Amino acid sequence: MTAHVPTPVGPPLRGDLFELLTRTASDFIARPTAQVGETIDRALEAIGELFDASRCYVFEIDEALDAATTTHEWCAPGVAAQRDSLQEIPLAMFPWWTAELRGGRAINLATLDDLPPGATAERALLEPRGVQSLLVLPVAWRGRLDGFVGIEHVRWPHRWTDEEVGVLRLIVTSFAQAFERRRLDATLQMANTVFQNAQEAIFVVDRDRRLVDVNPTFTAITGLARSELRGTPFTQLLSERHDAAFVAALWESVDAQGYWRGELWHRRRDGDVRLLRLTLSAVQGELRASPQYVGVFSDVTRLREQAERLEQMAYHDALTKLPNRVLLADRLQQALAQGRRTGRLLAVCYMDLDHFKPVNDTYGHDAGDRLLVEMARRLTAVLRAGDTVARLGGDEFVVLLPGLQSMAECEQLVERLLGCLQAPFAIGDGVQVTLTGSIGVRVVTSAGGDPEALLRDADQALYAAKEGGRGQAHYYDPALDQELVHRRDQIARISTGLQADEMALYYQPIVQLDSGAVFAVEALVRWDRRDLGLLPPSEWLSLIEDHELIGRVGAWALDAALAQGARWRAAGAPVAVHVNVSALELRDPGFVERVRGALARHPGFPADGLRLEVVEAATMQDVGTVAGVMEAVAAQGVQFALDDFGTGYGSLTYLRRLPARTIKVDRSFVGQMLDRPEDRAIVQGVLGLAQAFDRHAIAEGVETHAHARALLKLGCTMGQGYGIAPPMPVGEMDAWLQGRPFHRF
Ligand code: C2E
Ligand code: MG
Ligand code: MG
Repeated sequence: MTAHVPTPVGPPLRGDLFELLTRTASDFIARPTAQVGETIDRALEAIGELFDASRCYVFEIDEALDAATTTHEWCAPGVAAQRDSLQEIPLAMFPWWTAELRGGRAINLATLDDLPPGATAERALLEPRGVQSLLVLPVAWRGRLDGFVGIEHVRWPHRWTDEEVGVLRLIVTSFAQAFERRRLDATLQMANTVFQNAQEAIFVVDRDRRLVDVNPTFTAITGLARSELRGTPFTQLLSERHDAAFVAALWESVDAQGYWRGELWHRRRDGDVRLLRLTLSAVQGELRASPQYVGVFSDVTRLREQAERLEQMAYHDALTKLPNRVLLADRLQQALAQGRRTGRLLAVCYMDLDHFKPVNDTYGHDAGDRLLVEMARRLTAVLRAGDTVARLGGDEFVVLLPGLQSMAECEQLVERLLGCLQAPFAIGDGVQVTLTGSIGVRVVTSAGGDPEALLRDADQALYAAKEGGRGQAHYYDPALDQELVHRRDQIARISTGLQADEMALYYQPIVQLDSGAVFAVEALVRWDRRDLGLLPPSEWLSLIEDHELIGRVGAWALDAALAQGARWRAAGAPVAVHVNVSALELRDPGFVERVRGALARHPGFPADGLRLEVVEAATMQDVGTVAGVMEAVAAQGVQFALDDFGTGYGSLTYLRRLPARTIKVDRSFVGQMLDRPEDRAIVQGVLGLAQAFDRHAIAEGVETHAHARALLKLGCTMGQGYGIAPPMPVGEMDAWLQGRPFHRF
């Protein structure tokens, strides 16, 4: 144990110590915070020398790690530095030591015997290093412990007087204050860096709600320089779109809740209006001059525009900019809810242009598009606020008319919708077209309904409007419209059947009743519906009698019959072919070309081998046109036969006017002629007419030999019927024709 030699403390040391205190304090004040470390190093050296100590050092505490690290160290000449080995020492390892420092107390050990008995860890640390005396002072300021300063003697013991400890504590406290300043500086610097570099605009407002400071992004967004902004009332930045009430509510929220967050419009000096997303917060400032509010905003104009564009695309029709199907569904839901609430009526109107397709076909799609855009404009113009007009595609529009008080009001509005089509449409190049539209209306009471079903009902009503002659509105009528829809579905099924190649031609021979020579075969269409089997024309053809589809079926039959006729001819069976033609085809001047085209496609079949059968009744509507079409076709060498003759009440004048070389006596008369004298008389009469007008006669419905014999007796030499052969598919017909003589015309 080393003897305890008290170190003399005299006035010189005391004076030096006070001088060190003032020097250190003024150094800290005068120098930038970056040089705190140098001042500390100098102070440690001065303390060490003054007290003839071995080591003086600073440990700084890392709060997060709860550990202490030597950051500054001074060693007397010949004393080894320990800084490197004393890094990140956990405070928990030295509980007594730590508790003393946390309590703000100095650890003053004149010898290690001054250590309390419990401080075993501390002893274990100090003893092996030969520490004889030690003074440890907390580096603390305002209750915060930043670390501690240690002054060690290893060469001889030392006892510090209370006065020395007091002055040393002041010096060490100035370290703590310097650290605090350094921290504040760093925080400020960081805040400034954030302020200067933030991508968001930041501004500071004083208690008079005038701008105090703004960052560069603010300047960039607003186009206003920092210098001209100072003192500007914050609200001056807002666009005039915001009224005083908006501004008042904003400040009220800031003052009541501490912040306001939302979007607002800012008018730039260049007139450009930008949308800003702002958070304005109240801050606690002690001084009058200190900021009261801080605002952060970004310019979301582009984002908003993009969102709007996307929304526009998702919910609107690109061509007309009207709501699309998706948005319509939404609006329909709303309208139904409104109806439930108010008890008023809602009209769902399905609207469609009549004969729009020819506009597209004739003038091109651009012209069609222009028409649709104009149509959208007109519809929008006649609607009330709260109504919706949507485009579903093509020329289909749906209009929702909610809040109707009566049917009369509904009818009036629907009339207005139809009326907006009255003026001609300019579709470019000086071309104007006039069209009509049809509307199907489904009126919905406050009981509502399923949106999809309602639209379907309106669509059904639209179909009825079209069937009823177009250019008009039809109000949904469940039973009636159901039937129409059923018909529409059936027609659609026939159309798909035609496309799917489900149609077939059967052939039935027409023969010379006495010799049995084959005069011709009649092509009769069959629909081979996979699910229902073979359907004769009576089960479906009348459905499309007035539909353009009959023309497509007819064109197909003509083509198929000519192809087959050509094949027979090539196989040495020069048989004439009868093809049935519908009334609608006959009234269509385009039919002339269709026949010419079909003949041209089958050069292996001569025009004079083709006989077109026309139902007598069909010729009586629009005789002028029909006669013209028949003549033009006949001019190509094709012959005509008047089918079902005797059932059509045709006048003799017509018979004379029409270029039909053959008449077919209707099978109803022939079938009954053996039993009923009246029918026999009719047959006889028809045969007489044929003779008088120099036409051939063919009897239909020759069911037995008896019929054939009776007909021959009346002078009818040609017949067709089950008694001779039923209609047969091609294969059977081929076999039937084998070895038969042919009657040449
Ligand atoms: P249609 O032109 O008068 O054809 C004769 C019809 O009488 C055929 O009926 C045939 O099967 C039937 N028939 C033949 N022999 C007898 C018989 O001995 N007794 C009885 N009771 N009936 C007999 P199908 O094939 O059902 O055709 C019915 C009608 O459909 C045809 O009457 C014709 O007007 C029309 N049709 C057939 N194919 C076509 C076509 O391709 N186009 C057009 N537009 N109409 C067609
Ligand atoms: Mg026929
Ligand atoms: Mg017939």
